[in-house]
Amino acid sequence: MPTPCIICVAITGSLPTKADNPAVPVTASEQIESTHAAFEAGATIMHAHVRNDDETPSSDPDRFARLKDGVEKHCPGMIVQLSTGGRSGAGRARGGMLPLGPDMASLSVGSNNFPTRVYENPPDLVAWLASEMRTYGIKPEIEAFDLSHIFRAAAMHKAGEITDTPYVQFVMGVKNAMPVDREVFDFYVHTVKRLFGNDAPWCAAGIGANQIVLNDWAISSGGHARTGLEDNVRLDRDTLAPSNAALVNRAVELCEKYDRPVATWQQARAMLGRRTIVA
Ligand SMILES: [Zn+2]
Repeated sequence: MPTPCIICVAITGSLPTKADNPAVPVTASEQIESTHAAFEAGATIMHAHVRNDDETPSSDPDRFARLKDGVEKHCPGMIVQLSTGGRSGAGRARGGMLPLGPDMASLSVGSNNFPTRVYENPPDLVAWLASEMRTYGIKPEIEAFDLSHIFRAAAMHKAGEITDTPYVQFVMGVKNAMPVDREVFDFYVHTVKRLFGNDAPWCAAGIGANQIVLNDWAISSGGHARTGLEDNVRLDRDTLAPSNAALVNRAVELCEKYDRPVATWQQARAMLGRRTIVA
């Protein structure tokens, strides 16, 4: 049987606002409702940022706690992945929610340029975030904006800073970072298999109109797929996505096209080494 595909829904992000697409969930109740619909559509990881009431990004642990509790209550089994990304806070504030002990958290292990700024991930901060994740039993998802980030994850794994086989996400199409390039993508896949083994799970995300391109490449190549309004607010050039679930549906259709079963939450948890009995 082909490997079931884990669909991750990145529901909110730090950047898109209701002015970009009114379906972007901002309040905790909107986020929980949007996650629930995406879970019903087939997503088994929810990746989340939180916002202040004025829609600006926040790293407030209390807001993360409300969201995590709501998702665990309304979407039992779904993997909760909280963002430690750098747009919502600075320095160790980025990891202030890790004591909540979510199933997963994103971890950027190196720096690169973003559209209008440097995305700074200094080595001491990366090491601290990884140590907090070890302390609280959280599986990191390595955000690879560059080839060097995959090698950094391998070095951290070897040093015991990342305990499980690293779960790497290739992020392509962020302006000034790695573009959407098929040969690079294939080399990323090859590199993950060489460093972490043929069976090591990996996933990919594309920004904007490239979301569906990376979904197609990842699903047809045995990887896992990320979708959601964080990365892309449109179905096509002229049509706003009506919901996170609508974007999940596109990934589900690609799974059907390529004969990949959509992973259940039990399968997703088993593949990622997360607890499979949910209290
Ligand atoms: Zn994010």
